[in-house]
Amino acid sequence: MKINKKIVAIRRFIGEYPKKIIVIGSLFFILVLTVSMVDPGHIFSPKVSKIVSDFTTPDLMASPIKNITGIVKKGDSVSSLLNTYLPLKTIYDLDHRSQKIFPLTGIRQGQPYKISLLEDSLVGFEYEINQEDKLVIHKDKDTYSLSKNPIVYDTKQELISADIKTSLGEAVEGTGEDYSLAWKLADIFAWDIDFLRDIQPGDQFKVLVDKRYRNENFCGYSDIKAAFFINKGVEYKAFFYEDASGRKGYYDKKGHSLKKAFLKAPLNYSRISSTFSTRRFHPILHKYRAHPAVDYAAPKNTPIKTVADGIITNIGYNNSMGNHIIIRHSNGYETRYYHMNKYARGMKKNKKVSQGDVIGYVGKTGLATGYHLCFGMRKQGRPVNPLKQITTSAKPILQKDMPGFIAQTIKYSQEIKAANKLAQSN
Ligand SMILES: [Zn+2]
Repeated sequence: MKINKKIVAIRRFIGEYPKKIIVIGSLFFILVLTVSMVDPGHIFSPKVSKIVSDFTTPDLMASPIKNITGIVKKGDSVSSLLNTYLPLKTIYDLDHRSQKIFPLTGIRQGQPYKISLLEDSLVGFEYEINQEDKLVIHKDKDTYSLSKNPIVYDTKQELISADIKTSLGEAVEGTGEDYSLAWKLADIFAWDIDFLRDIQPGDQFKVLVDKRYRNENFCGYSDIKAAFFINKGVEYKAFFYEDASGRKGYYDKKGHSLKKAFLKAPLNYSRISSTFSTRRFHPILHKYRAHPAVDYAAPKNTPIKTVADGIITNIGYNNSMGNHIIIRHSNGYETRYYHMNKYARGMKKNKKVSQGDVIGYVGKTGLATGYHLCFGMRKQGRPVNPLKQITTSAKPILQKDMPGFIAQTIKYSQEIKAANKLAQSN
């Protein structure tokens, strides 16, 4: 009976809503298509396990160690992978000891692993945490050691360059490279170039990067070593550098970080009168208590400065925000300045502003009880706490590292030039 009812219900649904089904169906299809285009390697990675013998010993004798490699499947856990070879107590103990390096309970679907057996006893386990590192469990006599080791790839340095006709992604794919290289490149210059809006025909890029291989199969890119980008006739250069403490990033040739910091605050203020909060509707008080912004109390007509370079996307008055300005920055950030008494001279929609420019003056227009600036910040459309974003400082190369940095910069520049000449003579 129940099944019959269900069928009837389904028929009714299909009969009455055939268009809906087509629409939902096509939406789903588009979603799948989009997802597969964005990340074909990860989402649709084959979930196969295979058993291979290790023949890498130089004497050409088959090693007695048997390796089982696989990809973590949905529902797999460290105990389901290892309980055939280890007692639960040992797995539990390993998990406990792994917490500081990488918690074994944190293994994720889609990541590769390798189990090494000697006469059906576990002598090794490797799990790839990400593209860079793997967790290694190794049996030494009677105890297991745990460590995090870098994944070793064969690498080949290449210079990839192209003229852009429509988009960066298309230009990168046009060179025969993977789309992920476009993401890496866009990330490096995100603070200077808006890759959605600023790209125009005639733009160019050159990228010096190591391509990674394993058993001659391409498996992604290392950090880009150097990248040159011409946008609207202006050339931007980025050089990778990692210092002795492991701090790494991209810098211009003078050693300034390409990741630019926001101003600490958009004005000289007397105090913060309200902090950032995204608390939702309160069921008992029946009030919205979210305040996704920071209120800076300051005297009337205190100058308000834009915290970063950008373009004014919105300027005007409404009952709650009063006189307000919204600025879009090229790194996916947007800042909002509310309750102004008046705007600075020349402010209008689509005007370009530079970090530190005065855009207006403190007031209490709109829904405001006292003189203050209500300052909001969004990243990719979502409100974020400005006080947390602003502290993301971007320090330059340390003075003591400058000689090494400059030497590396010269080397990379020469390699790009040499590869260029080679390409032209072909
Ligand atoms: Zn506010």
